[in-house]
Amino acid sequence: MPSDTTQIILKGISGSPGICIGKAYLVDKEGVDVIEKYSIPENKVKKEINRFKSAVTKAKNELADIIKGVPEELRQHAGILETHLVLHKDKMLYGKAIDIIKNELVNAEWALREATSQAKSMFSNISDPYLKSRSADIEHVSERIMRNLIGCKDVNISNIDKRVILVAHTLSPAETSQIQLEKIMGFITDRGGKASHTSIIVRTLEIPAVLGLDNATQLIKNNSIIIVDGSKGVVIVDPEEKTLINYDGLSKKYETRKADILRTSDLPAKSADGHLFSIMGNIEQPEEVVAVKDHGGEGIGLFRTEFLYLGRMNFPDEQELFNQYKEVAELMAPHPVIIRTLDINGDKAISGIPTPEEANPSLGLRAIRFCLKNPKIFKTQLRAILRAAAYGNVQLLLPMISGCEEIHHTHQIIDEAVESLEKDGLAYNRDIQIGIMIEIPSAVIMADAMADLVDFFSIGTNDLVQYTLAIDRVNRHVAYLYNPLHPAVIRMIKHVVDTGKKKNIKTFMCGEMASEIINLPILLGLGLDAFSMAPQSIPSIKNMIRKISVSESKLFLKEVLKQTSAIDTMNLITDTYGDTLVNGIYDKYTDK
Ligand code: PEP
Ligand code: MG
Repeated sequence: MPSDTTQIILKGISGSPGICIGKAYLVDKEGVDVIEKYSIPENKVKKEINRFKSAVTKAKNELADIIKGVPEELRQHAGILETHLVLHKDKMLYGKAIDIIKNELVNAEWALREATSQAKSMFSNISDPYLKSRSADIEHVSERIMRNLIGCKDVNISNIDKRVILVAHTLSPAETSQIQLEKIMGFITDRGGKASHTSIIVRTLEIPAVLGLDNATQLIKNNSIIIVDGSKGVVIVDPEEKTLINYDGLSKKYETRKADILRTSDLPAKSADGHLFSIMGNIEQPEEVVAVKDHGGEGIGLFRTEFLYLGRMNFPDEQELFNQYKEVAELMAPHPVIIRTLDINGDKAISGIPTPEEANPSLGLRAIRFCLKNPKIFKTQLRAILRAAAYGNVQLLLPMISGCEEIHHTHQIIDEAVESLEKDGLAYNRDIQIGIMIEIPSAVIMADAMADLVDFFSIGTNDLVQYTLAIDRVNRHVAYLYNPLHPAVIRMIKHVVDTGKKKNIKTFMCGEMASEIINLPILLGLGLDAFSMAPQSIPSIKNMIRKISVSESKLFLKEVLKQTSAIDTMNLITDTYGDTLVNGIYDKYTDK
């Protein structure tokens, strides 16, 4: 029985919002951590390779069975598991492991462990958090093969027969997709981050999750009572009675608000004084269009196209890209689909392009820089986008633009793409809107000159905060400084929006700042035209916009611009809008 003084509060990363209170169920995944190395005589190498190959086949078959059984609500994410299927035969993992067995005359388990850690370190050199977290995909695939090599059993989450909260070191997307909502209330893991696929899936399931807790599996015992606060990324182990009562109330309040807000997600985002805003969704794969529509999104404001280039040794060809883009354009028509060109940085996971080691990858050969250095790859993508534009309201977005030259250079490549499409006699639409991401301070300063070259701006606050405040967005040690409410960031956004208005072009925001309710009074006051965010955030943002008056928020902005720190700005927001924010909150709430 927990005493009043034993509650432990663990802080992790919010994986999926919401609160649940229940008994812990530790997912036991023993066996694959202790790997022995031993030599294989030359005449047994072939046998060892066959043993490895048969483990890969078994692992693939297991996963194929899981894919077949993926419940309807998670069908949109089956693509993630399909990618894992492909990864089983990936050169980085499969080919490399076989090479290691052959060249080093070692056992298959050891070779697989080596190949996995080499592949993972390639991904970990990448600064983009999305790409970085793809190393988790490699790990999950490798773990399944390893279990088959060693002959130890897979965790079967679908066999859990009581209502529990899962506590695991890590959960793969395949395991997460076996979760049965009537059994699993929520989950927490030692590893993982917000951009992990596990986290993407769990947000779709809409069960609370906290990830990246480091040592939850060591601190929590089976059947301990735990509170998972997925919105704040907090887990409370053996809670005191008054904590339990408090969280019980919060949980009920949260669920009621969530249901109320979801019911209104199809209503327009019209402010209290009649200004209409367009609220769109950010996606990584065509399957996510459904979630955008279900949550009341009015278009795709950011289609991150990196996903199709990952976990493979070759670049996707034009037809493959075209099929994806066309599918999204048709599904979303007549609403806009803003396709962002490849935002990748020196991705060593993709073969064929030798990329140098970079000491500061986020300041390196990333995004538009990579594309302009590799015009063939860029042109393939541009042709696919221009072709898809013949089937819907497709727009083009260029990432990481730092100056006008990059826009001129891109226009040249677009012209070449158009010329070649014309020559090939393929249907395309040249009359496509072209926008740029504003996410580098130099782009903010040069916004007036750039506005003459493009049709719209889209502010990427995730990077704008990183580059403005000199805070690596994936470095946990400086995460406390990462705040879009920093006065410098607000002034930069103001400059961009004001310039856009002067130059008569629209300014959107597609960074995370747009999905946090607390920022809305400022964003509306700044005069942004549209917002794009993760689908699950759309209902609460639309709901909140309906409660705010734009003319009031413009007056409020004058006070905001007098603040000299993020914390003062935050206090000003809660002092001025406290009640409205508390009542409108769905994925962020307050326990005040
Ligand atoms: C951003 O930087 O705000 C953005 C939306 O792009 P990404 O997170 O993909 O870098
Ligand atoms: Mg960015």
